[in-house]
Amino acid sequence: MGANQPPPFENVNLFTSDLPLREAVSRAGVDAKDLAAFGAEYGSAETMELGRLANENPPRLRAFEPNGERADRVEFHPAWHALMRKSMTAGLHDSTGDVVERAARLYMATQIEAGHICPLTMTGAAGAALKAAPEILDAWRPYTTARDYDGAFRPWFTKKSATLGMGMTERQSGTDVRATITEARPINGHYEITGHKWFLSAPMSDGFLVLAQAPGGLTCFLLPRFRPDRSVNGLRLQRLKDKLGNRSNASAEVEFIGAYAERVGAEGEGVRTILNMVQLTRLDCAIAAAGQMRFGLALAVHHARHRLVFGRPLIEQPLMRAVLADLALSSEANTALVFRLARAHASPLDGAYARLMTPAVKYRVTKMAPAFIYETLECLGGNGYAEDFPIARLYREAPLNAIWEGSGNVMALDVLRVLRKGDSGVIDTLAGACGAPGKAAADEIRRLASGEDAEAHARITAERLARLGALAALHEANGALAEAYATRGARGTWGACDLGATQGLVRDRMVAL
Ligand SMILES: Cc1cc2nc3c(=O)[nH]c(=O)nc-3n(C[C@H](O)[C@H](O)[C@H](O)COP(=O)(O)OP(=O)(O)OC[C@H]3O[C@@H](n4cnc5c(N)ncnc54)[C@H](O)[C@@H]3O)c2cc1C
Repeated sequence: MGANQPPPFENVNLFTSDLPLREAVSRAGVDAKDLAAFGAEYGSAETMELGRLANENPPRLRAFEPNGERADRVEFHPAWHALMRKSMTAGLHDSTGDVVERAARLYMATQIEAGHICPLTMTGAAGAALKAAPEILDAWRPYTTARDYDGAFRPWFTKKSATLGMGMTERQSGTDVRATITEARPINGHYEITGHKWFLSAPMSDGFLVLAQAPGGLTCFLLPRFRPDRSVNGLRLQRLKDKLGNRSNASAEVEFIGAYAERVGAEGEGVRTILNMVQLTRLDCAIAAAGQMRFGLALAVHHARHRLVFGRPLIEQPLMRAVLADLALSSEANTALVFRLARAHASPLDGAYARLMTPAVKYRVTKMAPAFIYETLECLGGNGYAEDFPIARLYREAPLNAIWEGSGNVMALDVLRVLRKGDSGVIDTLAGACGAPGKAAADEIRRLASGEDAEAHARITAERLARLGALAALHEANGALAEAYATRGARGTWGACDLGATQGLVRDRMVAL
């Protein structure tokens, strides 16, 4: 420590060093042995280096071949392929297994490299939409659940495995997908799609679930990169987005020129069909945001342990302790909440919780990430602002999970929509777990959701509901933390509160870090 610079944060076991995560998976009865091996592998210096390389060498569009013919391919750095291989071997793209175990892996993997999670999430979630076309699902599933990554540009049915993307957003319409103008024409038992998408992430996927206007209305389709006769499908990559973060991943603007596609679900049922997929991608957004915040916290604690200021490690300075403890309390709440939501997605009996809480949790947890990660970045002082450390990249990534798969207001309005249909007793159950503060929160949520200004107040409703969910999840995890969370309230910046004796408890729970 000669220069008073902390050692690199690497070769850390992301599972065994994370007590809230370990407790969350244990509440779900998941075996921790494999997760500990996963945590060691992803926290290794080698995997972290892959994350750095994949982001410092972003993908490039190869629109044309040297002879002027269309190529429409994206070229990735070998580090991207290595990360895809590693995460597909670990089954991150396969949502047919244990939901909570996969959530734990996702929570850890996104800490080290967030960009490659996008195609894995979409591949896993696509199965929920494809249930509307069982014959397509049966044909693709052996490929989309295979663990052997195959990045070759070849027809999916000739590969060892396949990944799937999703195309909804157009130039004129993102949130309002009913305004889609891309058209689908039925022809000889399939459809030909003509139009465009303004955002199409992971454009080297083997197929895409897309929305297009069929004669019977807005419809969901599976559009493969290659036609059944093995010729390249009519999909032109116009350019790649130059993005704030998420640099390792490619997001393309694309045109469809009479592209071959197969219908998924009935004509006119497109939104309903694809929403089954989006419910799952929203869960992943929340899990990823919680994981990213945990990594920011870990980096901040590491710095504070090793950096001396005024002759004492930062971690021993009362005000820094207050900031870190408060951040850790928020992180505990987020982790307990997203894993409670993952458990709900695992059980059909918990369907009402999943319906109501998925948009609420996505709203609050993803929205907290930029401010939270900024605060952890500041704990590193000037180092936090330098690209030499992973936290700058984490900060640029942070806003994304709130934007895609339904931005903040859309999530808040979705909460309102579900509440208006009836919450099936979920709010009462949550309130019952939280004592007096729970009752007050439940009353307020109902009043807000039924008030004249319900739409204008939808963010307050979503916020209150997610906080109630977090409090209930914390009660299940640790009563003392729940009390501190309830007392701390929602106001003020991190550290601008007195956690009293709980500060010691939170600190003790960070010891393994
Ligand atoms: C890096 C990246 C990758 C992406 N990849 C994909 C992809 O692979 N596939 C895909 O289909 N899309 C993708 N998207 C697009 C993304 O899903 C959309 O940008 C997002 O859903 C918002 O749509 P929009 O950009 O059209 O914003 P708009 O619909 O114009 O919304 C703008 C704002 O208005 C708010 N708003 C909307 N309706 C209301 C309302 N009724 N009341 C109040 N406020 C409202 C929204 O919350 C939002 O904050 C990607 C985006 C990014 C940034």
